[in-house]
Amino acid sequence: MVEGDSTMDLWHKRLGHPSEKVLKFIPHVSQHSRSKNNRPCDVCPRAKQHRDSFPLSENNAASLFELVHCDLWGSYRTRSSCGAQYYLTIVDDYSRAVWVYLLCNKTEIETMFLNFVAFVDRQFDKKIKKVRSDNGTEFNCLRDYFFNNGIVFETSCVGTPQQNGRVERKHQHIMNVARALRFQGHLPMQFWGECVLTACYLINRTPSSVLNYKTPYEKLFGKVPKFHNMKIFGCLCYAHNQRRDGDKFASRSRKCIFVGYPYGKKGWKLYDLESKEYIVSRDVKFYEHEFPFDVQLDTTHSTPFIDSEYVTEDIGFETYDASFEGGGASMALQDNEQTQLQGGLHGDCNGADVAANEGLSVSG
Ligand SMILES: [Zn+2]
Repeated sequence: MVEGDSTMDLWHKRLGHPSEKVLKFIPHVSQHSRSKNNRPCDVCPRAKQHRDSFPLSENNAASLFELVHCDLWGSYRTRSSCGAQYYLTIVDDYSRAVWVYLLCNKTEIETMFLNFVAFVDRQFDKKIKKVRSDNGTEFNCLRDYFFNNGIVFETSCVGTPQQNGRVERKHQHIMNVARALRFQGHLPMQFWGECVLTACYLINRTPSSVLNYKTPYEKLFGKVPKFHNMKIFGCLCYAHNQRRDGDKFASRSRKCIFVGYPYGKKGWKLYDLESKEYIVSRDVKFYEHEFPFDVQLDTTHSTPFIDSEYVTEDIGFETYDASFEGGGASMALQDNEQTQLQGGLHGDCNGADVAANEGLSVSG
């Protein structure tokens, strides 16, 4: 429990700023039935953008992985810390679970999608039957694969993206949560990849009205997700320093910020403020009320990219560089990034609470 926060406030921040209605379905919150959200949140109004929902097709998949929606987003002007400029979103229609893969280059779509197919086959013993995207040209590289493997590939007509409204709304939800995480942590744009991955992780574990207030995780795995490891994104923390090389005078801990939940590993993903490295640690002390990148508190980080944060703040992540045509050297994802991206349930869902997209037609 963080001093000064009600249970509701605390979980509102930890879960990426969902509505109070949704929060009441979280066990940790409902146990404190008298907890109230006392203070207005200054992050929510800045992070969330609403627009009228697209009318959605009534057809819902009847089982897991019968239908998946996919789309590509980017390019973003600022590369993420792992070098990514795009992300691939895959939504399972039945569970509304979401997977996000950060990509340095569009050519990685094919590999990532085939990895996803293999993951579904191995972990769930399911065959994807239908793939839908309103962004057909980006997936041309997979048309032969779809045809040869009996997968139906549907693309919506140009100009009627509502046919793929599921993934549009999912994207809108991811962006709302990702922006909330970034504003909350006062993080510069280079952290957008961590914000998006963490948004998906949280959304998959957040109850949704369209799932009768179950979580996508529950629909997928048949059990409720665990919440005990959740912390406020972007907060100050100290990781026990295991690499002191026998030097008894070396620092016993590393000053970090918390930047997410690594896929397939126990622990937390952290950014070391001194060495500027990403690490995963299981031995961490969190200070969930302190945000080292908040320039009002800590002037040591008032570097130019912090200034540019405020320039880009209005447009959030939707900074689309239309002139970017790929090219240049594609940076390999770092190991830890790659692990995190593989197949992990980093996604989400939500329906009615989140309206659709505000012209994020960033898909090439
Ligand atoms: Zn909020």
